[in-house]
Amino acid sequence: MATPAVAEGVSSVASTALRAVLRRAHQAAEISGRRPEAVRVVAVSKTKPVSLIRQLYDAGHRFFGENYVQEISEKAPQLPSDIQWHFIGHLQSNKAKSLLASVPNLYMVESVDNQKIANYLDKAVAGLGRKPLKVLVQVNTSGEESKSGINPSNCVELAKHVRHACPNLIFSGLMTIGMRDYTSKPENFQSLSKCRDEVCDALGVPIEKFELSMGMSGDFEQAIEMESTNVRVGSTIFGPRDYVLP
Ligand SMILES: *Cc1c(COP(=O)(O)O)cnc(C)c1O
Repeated sequence: MATPAVAEGVSSVASTALRAVLRRAHQAAEISGRRPEAVRVVAVSKTKPVSLIRQLYDAGHRFFGENYVQEISEKAPQLPSDIQWHFIGHLQSNKAKSLLASVPNLYMVESVDNQKIANYLDKAVAGLGRKPLKVLVQVNTSGEESKSGINPSNCVELAKHVRHACPNLIFSGLMTIGMRDYTSKPENFQSLSKCRDEVCDALGVPIEKFELSMGMSGDFEQAIEMESTNVRVGSTIFGPRDYVLP
């Protein structure tokens, strides 16, 4: 029954960091005229052990994000089923089915950036008979070649495809990854807001019901002030990642 002292020490570090992030996120929500519940903080646990995720779970947190299929497939079954998992990494179409099969409590895939992957996810949901899956369309707002995401000029088309041609997916909004090194000019967040306006207009979706996933460790408060509804925070909660997966 007794928790080892070391684990307790680690626990307080991560859960203290989480509490600080939640407090900052709530303050930023207020600055943007919204209630704290309007913003979800997804704790990005990639490369971090299940024991650490468990500690944040025990502290009451339920939103976690991973970006490798193999890693989330190994971790999710070892953790409680009321966790709402967010898949935030680049997804290959041949992995869609195994992602869904191994993570029944997958809450959202944030990284749909082409029709093919949308179609594969749609088929996989139908094949497993699970409830419809929420998805976000990932937009490449920084223009960096290395980044995944659809070109902003094509976001309406892909959003329409998901909405109209994928009955097992729930199109829920847009996601972007900011530029690593920008300081005060959040052009990419502005670009995502512009995409949101276009998509809401084209699909007749009210802006209040639309998710904007933007903001990471270095810029989540700024993103929230610019109306982000979902921030993905890793290293500020869990500490720096000491290795990078392929
Ligand atoms: C790793 C990752 C994050 C978290 O990054 P931090 O800078 O550690 O907060 C957020 N979003 C995506 C897509 C990621 O891959």
